[in-house]
Amino acid sequence: MKTVYKVKIEKVTPEAEDAKSYIFVPVDFEQGLFDYMPGQFFMLEAEINRPETLTYDPATKQVIGSGKTVRVTEKKAYSIVSSPTEEGYIELLIKHENGVFAPYFLEQAHVGDVYRFQQAQGKFMRKFFEIKGGMMACWSSGSGIPSTMSIMRYKLDKGLDTKVAVLDSNKTLKDVIYHERLKMMTGESEDFVSLFTVTREPEENLPTSDPVRVSYASGRFWLNEPNTLKAFVGDEWQSYFNTICGASTFINGKGRDEGGKLVKLGKGIQDHLLEVGITKNQIDVDQFYLQ
Ligand SMILES: Cc1cc2nc3c(=O)[nH]c(=O)nc-3n(C[C@H](O)[C@H](O)[C@H](O)COP(=O)(O)OP(=O)(O)OC[C@H]3O[C@@H](n4cnc5c(N)ncnc54)[C@H](O)[C@@H]3O)c2cc1C
Repeated sequence: MKTVYKVKIEKVTPEAEDAKSYIFVPVDFEQGLFDYMPGQFFMLEAEINRPETLTYDPATKQVIGSGKTVRVTEKKAYSIVSSPTEEGYIELLIKHENGVFAPYFLEQAHVGDVYRFQQAQGKFMRKFFEIKGGMMACWSSGSGIPSTMSIMRYKLDKGLDTKVAVLDSNKTLKDVIYHERLKMMTGESEDFVSLFTVTREPEENLPTSDPVRVSYASGRFWLNEPNTLKAFVGDEWQSYFNTICGASTFINGKGRDEGGKLVKLGKGIQDHLLEVGITKNQIDVDQFYLQ
């Protein structure tokens, strides 16, 4: 059976218009709480108040609530933002996705509230540690950034001989979660480079004078060049291990059509990588939900 930890919110920080980070500290015991690896997640168990009836509306792509307010207990997975080297607290990032849990938690969870974590789990990034490190390209969209934050901090604190290339995609610059912290961390090691692409903001809005090794682009990855990985990390691109994290459309292009059926809507990062010859063994994916 998995160990369950009682944790208290110590700090809440807005990280984007629709996302907040939470610092949790253990309430009673913490033995084993910090025995996790970058890429793993906690199941967060929380009581929330929400409408009794929840119906998905395909027209607005939102879950609409109706009826009286009920108190329910939900369990949802959240990737760990902090690194196991940062003992004493756990940081999670929660983004509003128009669903049945996150909007209510974001509104109702406050400093001092107590929730529960199930012992850390998940295999994301494990393959990278099994091959004993090297070079890693971390592809993320929206809320898919937590494990990248964790591995960067872990590399710095442990002094690992690991290169990390961050490739993060968002609609606009305002949507980039942990933008300032990512820029600062990138500046902390010559082994880090970061590329932020924005799909709904023109080139002229993008910063030009950011710290060394941080760059910006407008448009989807792989739209403006035949091989985004090569264009960004250079000749060693074939040696990179690739982690891809976010919604299904970003990973493999699969999503729901207007009728709600699961279909292939286009190409995802995984398709592009396989097409240019990156092997399946060099790819690891963490799908948060179907889009
Ligand atoms: C391993 C793992 C790690 C994760 N890490 C994070 C993290 O670090 N941060 C984070 O914010 N999230 C993370 N998630 C996602 C998280 O667990 C939740 O799924 C997320 O918070 C949304 O939950 P929700 O209940 O509010 O939305 P849900 O109700 O689960 O809805 C999710 C999406 O599906 C849509 N949807 C719902 N029902 C339908 C339907 N019938 N037809 C079509 N679309 C529908 C919703 O509108 C919404 O866009 C992770 C998930 C996994 C599996």
